[in-house]
Amino acid sequence: MAGRAKSDATEALKQLTYLASALKAPRITESAVRLADHARDAGWTHEEYLAAVLDREVAARNASGAQLRIRAAGFPARKTLEEFDWDAQPGVRQQIAALASGGFLTEARNVVLLGPPGTGKTHLATGLGIAAAHHGHRVLFATATEWVTRLTEAHRAGKLANELARLRRYGLIIVDEVGYLPFEQDAANLFFQLVSSRYEHASLILTSNLPFSGWGGVFGDQVVAAAMIDRVVHHADVLTLKGASYRLRNRGIDTLPSIRETADHQPG
Ligand code: ADP
Ligand code: MG
Repeated sequence: MAGRAKSDATEALKQLTYLASALKAPRITESAVRLADHARDAGWTHEEYLAAVLDREVAARNASGAQLRIRAAGFPARKTLEEFDWDAQPGVRQQIAALASGGFLTEARNVVLLGPPGTGKTHLATGLGIAAAHHGHRVLFATATEWVTRLTEAHRAGKLANELARLRRYGLIIVDEVGYLPFEQDAANLFFQLVSSRYEHASLILTSNLPFSGWGGVFGDQVVAAAMIDRVVHHADVLTLKGASYRLRNRGIDTLPSIRETADHQPG
């Protein structure tokens, strides 16, 4: 570059740095510089160059938004769908792939994952939650027991309606481990209100080691359980995971009870 052009470029870069920081988009400076040489070499138009620079900024913002939503979701561990071994659950691969595209969230549909312990329910629920965060949805994960505690506190404080309205702003709520502990009647009613409040507004993912026929025992009342299941499954994909616990694979242990005889094998 000639001396004159070079000092013009330095001036322009200084101004770019200032403008990008005024826009609270300091990354723009870096991509503007990096793409400028490429644009010259490739003969891009001014419009193409500007679009490429802004595209990098938008992509970076979406990615950092997704990271914030993933951190805020409260997943017990970051398990992605990419890490899932489909050979262990070939039957649900296509359905999960379809759900991962996020269409169920815009339609406020639900997902129910049923199956014995260790078959990947929490992993898949988390993976779908992470995919949802990447699609721009806010997500909250907790166990059924934790949700009930939270709703009970809101109810005691006279703020249940507020809390349910606030939760509706989350595109996805994951309720893990429905059925591990039976609910008291008050808890069952609060849980029912959570399900009702989201019905046809926003999505739920529920996981359970019990088939629906066992939910009456969990909610202490067949009528409450039936009304709830009705709302959950009216617009839902119900996926049933099968087989032995993935935690115990390749250990020569096929059934859970045998771990009781083997002190060094603890369920994770
Ligand atoms: P569940 O919730 O059904 O009891 P988890 O999702 O907690 O089971 O799975 C137990 C452990 O095994 C987790 O660490 C999970 O990541 C892993 N796991 C289960 N199934 C698979 C799979 N098909 N591919 C990879 N990891 C799996
Ligand atoms: Mg689980």
